[in-house]
Amino acid sequence: MTMTSKFNSAEAVIRNRPLGSTHTSHIDEDTAWKQLLDRDGRGEFFYAVTTTGVFCRPDCKSRTPLRTNVRFFATQEQARTAGYRACMRCKPEAPRQASPVARMCAYLEREIDRPVRLETLGRLVGMSPFSVQRIFKKAMGVSPAEYQRAMRAHGLRSQLREGGTDVTTAIYEAGYGSASRAYETQPLGMTPGRFLAGGRGEKIGFATGETTQTGVPGWVIVAATQRGICWLALADTCEAAEASLRDEFPAAEIVANPKLGDMVETVLKRMQGEKQAVDLPLDLRGTAFQLRVWKVLQEIPEGVTKTYGQLAAEMGMPKSTRAVARACATNRVSVLVPCHRVVGASGSLTGYRWGVERKRELLKKEGARLA
Ligand SMILES: [Zn+2]
Repeated sequence: MTMTSKFNSAEAVIRNRPLGSTHTSHIDEDTAWKQLLDRDGRGEFFYAVTTTGVFCRPDCKSRTPLRTNVRFFATQEQARTAGYRACMRCKPEAPRQASPVARMCAYLEREIDRPVRLETLGRLVGMSPFSVQRIFKKAMGVSPAEYQRAMRAHGLRSQLREGGTDVTTAIYEAGYGSASRAYETQPLGMTPGRFLAGGRGEKIGFATGETTQTGVPGWVIVAATQRGICWLALADTCEAAEASLRDEFPAAEIVANPKLGDMVETVLKRMQGEKQAVDLPLDLRGTAFQLRVWKVLQEIPEGVTKTYGQLAAEMGMPKSTRAVARACATNRVSVLVPCHRVVGASGSLTGYRWGVERKRELLKKEGARLA
């Protein structure tokens, strides 16, 4: 599926909301007005100007109307039904073209196993190889070749085969709203490409704590972006814990942040089997498939274990046991995304990213019955 068609189908979903129900209530008008003022293309609405009788996309280049003259619509059909005509400038009825960078990303993802020349990308979007390199790097933080390498390194190729997903879907479902917008803007302060390249340009704070008091020997590191915990690892020593963070996000700016000490305390309490009311914010980013697996993991109650096969079956993908196992193995947030509650078909502990002994201790604390 190409980037363009993905985007269009996403729009179609939004636009197919029932007309008769006059549900403009789901538009938060304050947010919409702010997006209109910013000419923010991410706005999922159309606005009409009562004085001109014209309706526009939020990122139209026309003069900003007075707030009192503006009406918001969820769909262009609603705007038309209300008697407004489409703006000649922003052409709200024309399907939106995917950006050149989005088109290049889609192409690179399709050709993931094969080096792609800048000339080829240039022909695709009608630009010189030099411009291709420049605009791609500016938008994605990495060169086209590095982008492909990052995609390969993160196993997205095998997910294309086994998980039944594609990178575009993955990014779309990861909460970027739509793939082309994910590529054009940086809603999280970082493009997907930058994230895949190891957190380039992102600031990640961390704090550590000793876990031995919980019965699990060693140390824990809790690392967080502004959005939430992005890395929670267990290790033998404080140094090893910190090194694991730097390995996972080699390009991020990593700084100790004592304010995260509270999060460490909460994690230690969880490890001691104390049920906490506090839900710590998580910043999980991965492919759609990984995110689905991690979500299912969070639904396994304490004291319960499941097999990889059970999880796969619950997700409606009974043939994807191996892919599920790999998604568990690539979990970045131990304990809180309890991949330790997944065991082998025979009830054996199988592997654990942070050591099988720690898995055993965590399960024992939770009162799980072990094979
Ligand atoms: Zn317009």
